[in-house]
Amino acid sequence: MIVRSLTFEDRAGSFRVVIGDRALKHMLHLCAADPERETGGILIGFYSNDFTTAHVVEATSPPRDSKSGPDWFHRGTEGLEAMLRKRWDGEPRTHYIGEWHFHTANIPWPSAQDLKQMRAVAQDAKYNCTEPILVIVCPVGENQWVFRSYVFHSGDLTEELHLVDYSELERADSRGQNSAEPTGRKERPRC
Ligand SMILES: [Zn+2]
Repeated sequence: MIVRSLTFEDRAGSFRVVIGDRALKHMLHLCAADPERETGGILIGFYSNDFTTAHVVEATSPPRDSKSGPDWFHRGTEGLEAMLRKRWDGEPRTHYIGEWHFHTANIPWPSAQDLKQMRAVAQDAKYNCTEPILVIVCPVGENQWVFRSYVFHSGDLTEELHLVDYSELERADSRGQNSAEPTGRKERPRC
């Protein structure tokens, strides 16, 4: 499988999310390992100097105290603090930038529970991330997957990002259509 990177962009063309190959591969590996059960974890990465691009370097496995079923997932917290401290002290320095979920059915948008979780993250000072990203992976066929990316702005506005570059992606189907509401986002992300 060749999976190098995926780039998503907001409607205004002012903010991008680039998911790197290691993160993509790990998400697909976990989804394929048990296609009948939701899973997920956190996204770790960094922002460009001008804060217009979020680079997702790592998508973690679910912490051990996570709980899940065929259509639900509660991400635990065990070990995350230590992991994030290590990443912060690492070279290059990386940090928490959001969450990722595997949805077992072809439902590539956030559930009510997901929206609640993202709102809680945005408001929790521990995460220091007021505009977290959510990446959702779901199956669209045999060995084919779709990735969607959302950013949660302050004030409860959820924006779906368009897929703008997947030229290097093979055997991992991704589509960029969306029905996101328009947004007047002007602020830089503050994660
Ligand atoms: Zn979810």
